[in-house]
Amino acid sequence: MLDAQDRPIRYLRLSLTEACQMRCVYCRPSILTQSKQAGRLTPDEIETLVRHLVAEHGLMKVRLTGGDPTARPDLIEIIERLASIDGISDLAMTTNGLSLASHANDYANAGLGRVNVSLDSLDPKRFAQITGVDALGRVLAGIDAVIDAGLTPLKLNTVVLKNENLADLPALVAYAATHGVEIRFIELMPMGPLAEHWVDRYVPASRMRNALAQVAAGWQTTAQGSDSAQTYDVTLHDGRQARVGFITPMSCNFCSACNRLRITSDGSLYPCLMDQPRGNLTDAIRPKFDADRFDRLLSVAIQAKAPEHPVTGVAVMTQIGG
Ligand code: SAM
Repeated sequence: MLDAQDRPIRYLRLSLTEACQMRCVYCRPSILTQSKQAGRLTPDEIETLVRHLVAEHGLMKVRLTGGDPTARPDLIEIIERLASIDGISDLAMTTNGLSLASHANDYANAGLGRVNVSLDSLDPKRFAQITGVDALGRVLAGIDAVIDAGLTPLKLNTVVLKNENLADLPALVAYAATHGVEIRFIELMPMGPLAEHWVDRYVPASRMRNALAQVAAGWQTTAQGSDSAQTYDVTLHDGRQARVGFITPMSCNFCSACNRLRITSDGSLYPCLMDQPRGNLTDAIRPKFDADRFDRLLSVAIQAKAPEHPVTGVAVMTQIGG
């Protein structure tokens, strides 16, 4: 799959549900309606469409997201079905971490490769303030369980908000160093409930880096960064090493390297996180899979991928998956 800018599309981000157990101030899921649940793609439909994308269109990576993918009762079956597809080199999941302490082993046994966990603060009060859930201890236990289950390399994601968690960055980097995991600091995007207050809450990566001066003695750019993060090996003042990434959709976008396609739980096709949906796949899937129709819909969405993302997003992250 090549888009109009000749970018090869190899990475599917599949949002399994709009439901989430958290109520993050910058994201906040809408109430899940019955019709949304009824209309969502089944494990069988998900397997069929991903098999087709791998076999016919060169798809290599799949990330399960949401809402929170763990809010789907059939998550294990979905993982098992996707893990059975030859040709996927990376099967990953992004989660709020609430279910990991009890289920990390189940996800690993089902065939999941690795996990990213959101972690916005190590201060229990601030964590609860940002996420709406008093559950820092449970998420930290989940991170330990992920490491024990071998769902690695594990990456932690922190959305950085002015007047909220900027002061927590040094502690988060020290925690990442102790656990031998990468932490990525994400610039707030003007989507969802804080879209209107974006100017007051946004922190550019340059400022995040300044906030880390008290723990970081040296910064070394890594050769192998992910496609969306500028990644550094950081030497801390106490001699420890941490890998730190900055995801900078606002100050320095990474659209020229974008290799992503997004499909939501109701089958909508999004060419970009911040753009509108371009079609819905369910007509090509129900009552049975129609490959020609599917390919026509896919082609329209991929050709609609803009060279750069729009300035503001139209969807909330819970619909489309961050
Ligand atoms: N529930 C899962 C989680 O907590 O990671 C997966 C879905 S969540 C929408 C995916 C990522 O999007 C999270 O790292 C979240 O912090 C991030 N996110 C949500 N709203 C955002 C916004 N307005 N700007 C930047 N990142 C955002």
